[in-house]
Amino acid sequence: MQNMVILGATGSIGASTLSVISQNPDTYRAFGLVAHSNVDKMLPLCEAHRPQIVHMVDEAAAATLRAALDPTLGIEVTSGEQALLELVTRDDVDSVMAAIVGAAGLVPTLAAVHAGKRILLANKEALVMSGQLFMDAAKASGAQILPVDSEHNAIFQCLPESVQQNLGFCDLNGNGIRHILLTGSGGPFLNTPIEQLKLMTPAQACKHPNWSMGPKISVDSASMMNKGLEYIEARWLFNANKEQLKVVIHPQSVIHSMVQYRDGSVLAQLGNPDMRTPIAHCMAYPQRIESGVEPLDFFTVGQLSFCEPDFSRYPCLELAIEACRQGQEATTVLNAANEMAVAAFLAGNIGFTDIAKVNAQCLQNLTCNSLTSLEDILALDAQTRQVAGEILSRMN
Ligand code: NAD
Ligand code: MG
Repeated sequence: MQNMVILGATGSIGASTLSVISQNPDTYRAFGLVAHSNVDKMLPLCEAHRPQIVHMVDEAAAATLRAALDPTLGIEVTSGEQALLELVTRDDVDSVMAAIVGAAGLVPTLAAVHAGKRILLANKEALVMSGQLFMDAAKASGAQILPVDSEHNAIFQCLPESVQQNLGFCDLNGNGIRHILLTGSGGPFLNTPIEQLKLMTPAQACKHPNWSMGPKISVDSASMMNKGLEYIEARWLFNANKEQLKVVIHPQSVIHSMVQYRDGSVLAQLGNPDMRTPIAHCMAYPQRIESGVEPLDFFTVGQLSFCEPDFSRYPCLELAIEACRQGQEATTVLNAANEMAVAAFLAGNIGFTDIAKVNAQCLQNLTCNSLTSLEDILALDAQTRQVAGEILSRMN
């Protein structure tokens, strides 16, 4: 029996993970569930999955949940950062699904990495902020990192085992790999006239054509900042340089990414767009388990098409690729700026095209910091949020 902790249990990835666990009850146990504050969502999860520990970041939410839970279930409810760090590093925890959205996921995920846990990594923002530090920590502790993000999971599946076992430090060239082809659907605004993008509402941005996801990543998919964050994520996971990483728009989201080899071979991973596939893959790797996902039916898939991303439509993607070239400071700044801008857009305070403007202005503000520790990264994140807040208040 594998004991899992799910960081972000009340979210979209959390729900998919619990669904895969339910289908494999003899092998996996939802030992710990972690969320921010949504008691209405957490209560039924507790009743259905009977975790040993539930952690609510919001203390008032923890108190409400404690009062609402049937005491005969024997579920311990905790709050406070120390309790969260204790949960993810416990000896009886085998794996941690890192699916908190945004920078908030970094500290608990990194703690689990230091403790040598098997990390199922959905929280791409953690890697965007801490890349080198994160991969170094995994190497030092022996924590196995398994990419849940569907593109990175697809790439992982298309790589030789020697590369899979050496994430972060692998030699793509030495393994005959020419390119990593990161595919993306282009989001809901792929065919929207560019001059109309500024009018797009949060509801339109969140209406992804193929995937059902949380609000932040849905907006990021519409701006293709998501692909930008994934580009940075791929840079760290696969130790890839600019020449080795390419972004390809593939509107149907049937191919989840590809690896192009020196001899002309291209390996791709395909499937229905359902996160339970990469989650199940990470849970069972190197074995295979049931995920509940329907097999891909090629007779209904029809055509697969591809095109090149247009940076005038997707300026956030260009910003991310440039930030990746600049290094860790720039990617940390970009991530914090983008979280602030997306939250302001979702709250109806700025327009869709303002997101890229806030991100660009924050990057221009970048002064040379050297990031050598988690504290440095968190300080730069906080500093950028302040700068972004000032830019946003001038926009309203
Ligand atoms: P979501 O908004 O549906 O859920 C977010 C979860 O994080 C919730 O459980 C929430 O309680 C928790 N959370 C939010 N703020 C928190 C905080 N300060 N402290 C602790 N917990 C907090 O998001 P999602 O779509 O499930 O995405 C989660 C992560 O997975 C993101 O990093 C996203 O980029 C990544 N991801 C998601 C998908 C997808 O299909 N949804 C695909 C690939 C990667
Ligand atoms: Mg993805």
